[in-house]
Amino acid sequence: MAKNEDIFKKVIAHAKEYGFVFPSSEIYDGLSAVYDYGQCGVELKNNIKDYWWKAMVQAHENIVGVDTAIFMHPTIWKASGHVDAFSDPMIDNKDSKKRYRADVLVEDYMAKIEGKINKEVTKAAKRFGESFDEQQFITTNPRVVGYYEKIGEVKKRLYPAMDENDLAGIKKLIEDLEIACPVSGSRNWTDVRQFNLMFATQIGSLSEGANEIYLRPETAQGIFVNFLNVMKSGRMKVPFGIAQIGKAFRNEIVARQFIFRMREFEQMEMQFFVRPGEELKWFEYWKEERMKWHLSMGIPAEKYRFHDHDKLAHYANAATDIEFDFPIGFKELEGIHSRTDFDLNAHQEFSGKKLQYFDPELNENYVPYVVETSLGLDRTFLAVLSHAYTEEKLEDGSERVVMKLPPVLAPYKAAILPLVKKDGMPEKAREIMDSLKMDFMCRYDEKDAIGRRYRRQDAIGTPYCITVDHQTLEDNTVTIRERDSMKQDRISIEEIVRIIHDRLKA
Ligand code: ATP
Repeated sequence: MAKNEDIFKKVIAHAKEYGFVFPSSEIYDGLSAVYDYGQCGVELKNNIKDYWWKAMVQAHENIVGVDTAIFMHPTIWKASGHVDAFSDPMIDNKDSKKRYRADVLVEDYMAKIEGKINKEVTKAAKRFGESFDEQQFITTNPRVVGYYEKIGEVKKRLYPAMDENDLAGIKKLIEDLEIACPVSGSRNWTDVRQFNLMFATQIGSLSEGANEIYLRPETAQGIFVNFLNVMKSGRMKVPFGIAQIGKAFRNEIVARQFIFRMREFEQMEMQFFVRPGEELKWFEYWKEERMKWHLSMGIPAEKYRFHDHDKLAHYANAATDIEFDFPIGFKELEGIHSRTDFDLNAHQEFSGKKLQYFDPELNENYVPYVVETSLGLDRTFLAVLSHAYTEEKLEDGSERVVMKLPPVLAPYKAAILPLVKKDGMPEKAREIMDSLKMDFMCRYDEKDAIGRRYRRQDAIGTPYCITVDHQTLEDNTVTIRERDSMKQDRISIEEIVRIIHDRLKA
């Protein structure tokens, strides 16, 4: 098993054991690609939401939030293009009976070639040492040049076939590349078919004449259809943004990889309305801002990268993804898209209502252009969790698993621990707990030896353990143990709040 795959399995097991994430409906054998957040998970998730909301809404005077309904008028999904085009091409392997996204099979094929290129580069860098010129190497080494040509050829066939909905062309490409099913190893494929990812349900009772509606596949449309409401009631002036955090639903064909790809998930989206012609400037602005936000959590920069889209969606004139180095490799975490005036125009057309802004400086009406930032909450959770998971060998030979979560996101900020369960220590510890618990999420724990209690807090990422011991009863001081360094200091009880506050700001 690859090392990273091994770590991924450990993260998933840890998440379950310590109450971060459970498989949905587990006592009924689970529901595929649906997960529940447990007692620690909900805190971490809420903290991520809060961290995003503060950066996007609270810190920007020209961005406001909304919370729109999951059910929306069905015509909205006609206007947005989801009814006609929100589908993925799927293909089944007749031997393993496994279903795949046809385009992903081809993308994976290209990724394998990229892997070979990277290997060649690493090898050559070692061989040439300091004099290595990567650019020169990849443009002249015959093997690498051949790999790039191959990728180019595949792209030249895949992208037009996807754009033109040429399902037979995609199947032919899979056959020509001799792509085999990773499970059965066979090339016995069905035809490629389109599969719409929206979940449909009925609204209203049958006697009233029920209508088919959809569970929203993205939160963005709730923002577009409220553009006028928010602009007027909030007296907003372009450029301005509307942000929203909420559930989205997609009947994903291949829904594996834990909470990376789920059928019910949460998005944190912001649509920024700008003057036509200024969208690319704002696109660059948000690209940078969003990367800064990710880095502000303290995860190293090499774990993130931009991936500019070669192939733009029909509504976009620029698009990039922020990718994160998950244990399953670099994958999309957030999308930043310059969506032009596509959405507002489409809603004008389908609703018959004008969705325009009067710009007093230009003295003209226009349909604003939109730059969108669209972040998966669950993927952010997975990024933070998998990066935090650390196995350490300690000096005394013992081992610990510690979740090195950014303190601001940790489910609990402090654990209050009486050294022993007697001599008035539990009472004193309770007193401290009561004085802190409205400021921070805290845990009280008096069961088992102190070392085991420290390990339990390490495992859920609690940045501070406050221990009440004999000396506490004499001079009102406690020990404060820092999670990562395990360093312990003696401080007076009055200092606890300030120290924790300072650390959370750092
Ligand atoms: P992908 O290519 O991985 O399917 P996407 O490009 O369809 O993602 P967007 O429509 O741009 O995704 O959605 C914005 C964000 O929502 C993504 O960057 C991702 O973080 C999150 N997201 C999308 N689909 C899922 C899902 N099935 N499960 C969890 N998060 C998701």
